[in-house]
Amino acid sequence: MRYEDGRFAKHPRFRYFALNTEMRWRALQTGKIYINQHPKDARLSLEDLKEMISSGGKELSKRVLHYATSLRGTKQFWFKQRSRLISMIDCLGMPTVFFTHSAADNQWPELARLIAENPDESSSRSSAVNNNPAIADWFFYERISKFMKTFYVDVLGATDYWFRFEWQHRGSPHVHGVAWLHNAPDIEKLLSSDDSAELLDAAERITAYVDDLVSTMNPGIPADGNNIINSIPLPKIKPHVCNQQYQGINNLEMDLVDLVATCQRHTRCSTSYCLKRKRGKQECRFGYPKPLQQVTTITTQEGEPVVLTSRNDNLLNAYNPVQLSAWRANVDMQYIMSRNKVIKYVAKYATKSEPRSKGLQELYSTIMKSIKEDATPLKVVQKLLTSTIGERDFSAQETCHLLLMLPLFRASRDFVVLSLDGSRQVTETFEEDKSVTVDSQLDHYCARPDVPEFREVSLLKFVQKYRIPKKIGSALVPRNKDVIVIPRPYCSPDPQGPQYEQYSKQKLMLHKPFVQLDELLGGCDTYAAAYATFLQSRNVPKSLAGDIHRLEMAQAEDQQTA
Ligand SMILES: [Zn+2]
Repeated sequence: MRYEDGRFAKHPRFRYFALNTEMRWRALQTGKIYINQHPKDARLSLEDLKEMISSGGKELSKRVLHYATSLRGTKQFWFKQRSRLISMIDCLGMPTVFFTHSAADNQWPELARLIAENPDESSSRSSAVNNNPAIADWFFYERISKFMKTFYVDVLGATDYWFRFEWQHRGSPHVHGVAWLHNAPDIEKLLSSDDSAELLDAAERITAYVDDLVSTMNPGIPADGNNIINSIPLPKIKPHVCNQQYQGINNLEMDLVDLVATCQRHTRCSTSYCLKRKRGKQECRFGYPKPLQQVTTITTQEGEPVVLTSRNDNLLNAYNPVQLSAWRANVDMQYIMSRNKVIKYVAKYATKSEPRSKGLQELYSTIMKSIKEDATPLKVVQKLLTSTIGERDFSAQETCHLLLMLPLFRASRDFVVLSLDGSRQVTETFEEDKSVTVDSQLDHYCARPDVPEFREVSLLKFVQKYRIPKKIGSALVPRNKDVIVIPRPYCSPDPQGPQYEQYSKQKLMLHKPFVQLDELLGGCDTYAAAYATFLQSRNVPKSLAGDIHRLEMAQAEDQQTA
């Protein structure tokens, strides 16, 4: 793809052939790794294998498909990223904003100068983008990566962020993401007050903050409050406002009016894009047109707090003026008001996988039919994995993105899986076809130096803050930034559920300093009882507030039935 004369990057079919080959190769390699790590499965007969895939259990398929989480872009891959992003929210608290950035790759003058024969001519620019999807996609990747730093981190003061790339329609990329801003009001705390004067005060603080950050005001509409259709400025497409270089703009206010008119108005609802049948009527799934709003207020919808920003244009998409002026293509910015909303958003936009053409059941039966009598366990496993790649169409720019090995998402933190059931950490390598077992983080924690600095450190803090050395007993080196820890295996936090004993043990391991596991019981008979005692102590981290609440609810219910 990077070959100097561009013959491979520009060839209309080569990229699809290359991507298909690369993805199949990766699936086959992953199959080999699976078989190496599951010697029992490697000895199964063909009949056993068929039985295990087709019969109700699906155990083998589940185990194998877990390995598809390392295959970029598969459903399993995005499922894993979703649970990581949710861990990030658990660890850092609610993010402040959702954002979206689209591409104006047919307009941006900086890209045109790289690829177009005649950068000032619109037709020359768009054919250049069609002929150079690799450069157009790479340019977008570089642009948004720099924008994260200069706008989100330096201007808005973001302490953390997460975003992903996606391709739609004619195939240009866009990103969806969330950012945590350092000075954001703690909404959950502010809105949980029982005092009405305090609540009023909180609402004022939040709306003032939101007004500084997000706008749904069209600056082109006169301030006399009349939303007269012909007073709304028209899009500026000849010459296109996104074709203007930021440095060359003299009048920033006029420029913002043009950008809003051109990029931010949802002017055309269509059945192929946003119109969905709801309650017997055709409705825009983004809710346009939206009611006008005099001033910004906080209200409740379906039991969740929402903020309605002041609005003088019922088709306007929310934006931040600096974000839009500098990005110079369609953007979106939403202030996050509730944890449930952010989890829904993550599932809906941020980590969704592409729709699959076939259900898993159908897939298995197709695979079963195509397995030959002399098939080995390796072949069956590889077939399962290649099937996860799917058959959907990739756009030219998406194909190039994958071939250039550019990331599909970016996060401001690293993630570390912490195994709490005693299993060893396994390092996977694609190159060497083998896996290495090393001492677990748990081993390192229990063998930490017996000095005041480390004695009172919890396992969670230990893994968040220190690099695990190669050998037990080596000096511990602090990390540059705390990592997001993902405890495994997952256990349900329901105090009345069957996993609560194991869940309590995990929570104690994470939060209560120990050297020997049995210390965690602290004289109690069960981990559940020991955890209840721990939750009543003074050293409970803020992140366990949900557990305290659940436990209190369960105890109240017990008392009622008794
Ligand atoms: Zn619409």
